[in-house]
Amino acid sequence: MAKPPLLVHICCAPDAAYGATVFQRDHEVTGFFHNPNIWPSEEYDLRWMETQKVESRLGFRLMEGTYDPRDWERRVAPFAAEPEKGRRCDVCYALRLDAAARKACDLGLPAFATVLTVSPWKKAEVINRIGGRLGRKYGLRYLAADLKKDGGFARSVEISRSFGLYRQKYCGCRFSWRPR
Ligand code: SF4
Repeated sequence: MAKPPLLVHICCAPDAAYGATVFQRDHEVTGFFHNPNIWPSEEYDLRWMETQKVESRLGFRLMEGTYDPRDWERRVAPFAAEPEKGRRCDVCYALRLDAAARKACDLGLPAFATVLTVSPWKKAEVINRIGGRLGRKYGLRYLAADLKKDGGFARSVEISRSFGLYRQKYCGCRFSWRPR
């Protein structure tokens, strides 16, 4: 029997390398790389290229969103001074997940999810609350998850190494740019 379709928002290759495999167990995954938060553009190009490697290794359909960092900057500007995991990040998650939900609607897919929760630096409860709200807004099912749990983050590191993927040292935006 065919698996039900699912749009999965992808933030980066290492998170997709594990997160997509989890969703692929029960779904036909379409990956959606939408990350206007990434700075600078060379870093964006690198993360997009690495995600395409994951696509070819795992064999799912992959699409790219619109890269418009100026629009992203304008929207997070009121929260620019917030620390990581603060309100700037909440807005950043919401912008990316909103675009993912709209893409699912455009493609006629009934459900969406994200691999953002693989990262130990991301609060799954916040991301899932936003995803659930957007699901209700667009009439979609949102698959809540905390992919870092049960060794998920360690597994993402392991798979990334085996695929030879670039592992970024900062979350993505210019405010987060500092070596961890
Ligand atoms: S730290 Fe990460 S989640 Fe937060 S605003 Fe920057 S890119 Fe977005």
